[in-house]
Amino acid sequence: MNHDVIVIGGSFAGLAAAMQLARARRSVCVLDTGAPRNRFAAASHGFPGQDGRPPQAIRAALRRELSAYPTLSFRDGAGASAMREGEGFRVTLAEGGDITARRLVLAFGVRDSLPDLPGVTERWGSTVLHCPYCHGYELNGGPVGVLARGEAALHQGMLLPDWGPTTLFTQGVLSLSAEQRQSLTGRGVMIEETPVAELFGTAPALDGVRLEDGREIAAAGLFLAPDTAPASDLAAQLGCTMKDGPTGPYVAVDPMQATSQPGVFAAGDLASPMANATIAAAAGVMAGNSAHRSLIFDPALTATA
Ligand SMILES: Cc1cc2nc3c(=O)[nH]c(=O)nc-3n(C[C@H](O)[C@H](O)[C@H](O)COP(=O)(O)OP(=O)(O)OC[C@H]3O[C@@H](n4cnc5c(N)ncnc54)[C@H](O)[C@@H]3O)c2cc1C
Repeated sequence: MNHDVIVIGGSFAGLAAAMQLARARRSVCVLDTGAPRNRFAAASHGFPGQDGRPPQAIRAALRRELSAYPTLSFRDGAGASAMREGEGFRVTLAEGGDITARRLVLAFGVRDSLPDLPGVTERWGSTVLHCPYCHGYELNGGPVGVLARGEAALHQGMLLPDWGPTTLFTQGVLSLSAEQRQSLTGRGVMIEETPVAELFGTAPALDGVRLEDGREIAAAGLFLAPDTAPASDLAAQLGCTMKDGPTGPYVAVDPMQATSQPGVFAAGDLASPMANATIAAAAGVMAGNSAHRSLIFDPALTATA
């Protein structure tokens, strides 16, 4: 085997996992394509000690720290396929060639699919957002909208008045009970049933949304829940059990971040129904520790890890 562990995905979760393994002097290879989920945002918020830093700067700092550990190596590129082989795994690289290891940590994140509405894509991560805790504060209390794509919009609609006067756009996909309307209006939320046709303003800034009947409603930010799916099908190739989350499928893990496949651990957005950078990093720490323990306590991979 080339390594004790291959970590596939080198962002918040993967680098946190790699650090635990490198600090145990284990041979670990981090394979990464350099496209973290929050790359569309100029700054990452809420990560303790890193609040407001650009995502790529945080990643660069983490990589710098890891470079001090001699048993760790980085390999830039995509894992294209992964399979069990003997008491370990073989990962084939998209650029050609392959590497082997006794354990895998999957940390390649998720891919977001946005609604096909004019003005959304060019504002993603700036004024079109999915998480008020990440970027709501920076809207400075201006008016905000919630673009319904399903039931999750009700939840967002209830939260958002803490960040600014809120309008919930039901978009013909959310039908509200009398009780739900009462809860929303109790929070001061305005409910708009005419669908949003487009966003306006000089992107990436947002001035508001234009409805199908031509009316304009001011908004400094628009929140929506993107559809998500693992950024790669490697977990499926390995036979990992998946679960359905509120925005899409994710890899099922136990509290130690072990997947259903012995020797395969997963952490971060791809293995969580709801995540952020801090939660991904914490899960990465657990996945790294668990992979290490598995090397010691289940060297032949006879039990579920
Ligand atoms: C627009 C936006 C803004 C956000 N802002 C914040 C914020 O301010 N604060 C916050 O806490 N959270 C924020 N988040 C959430 C945050 O981005 C994620 O929770 C976090 O990035 C998850 O970390 P991760 O390591 O699981 O995955 P990611 O950070 O997505 O990293 C996955 C890594 O795997 C790599 N990869 C993918 N496929 C492969 C492959 N086949 N082989 C090798 N490498 C691969 C990718 O290039 C990437 O580097 C934001 C999300 C979005 C969409």
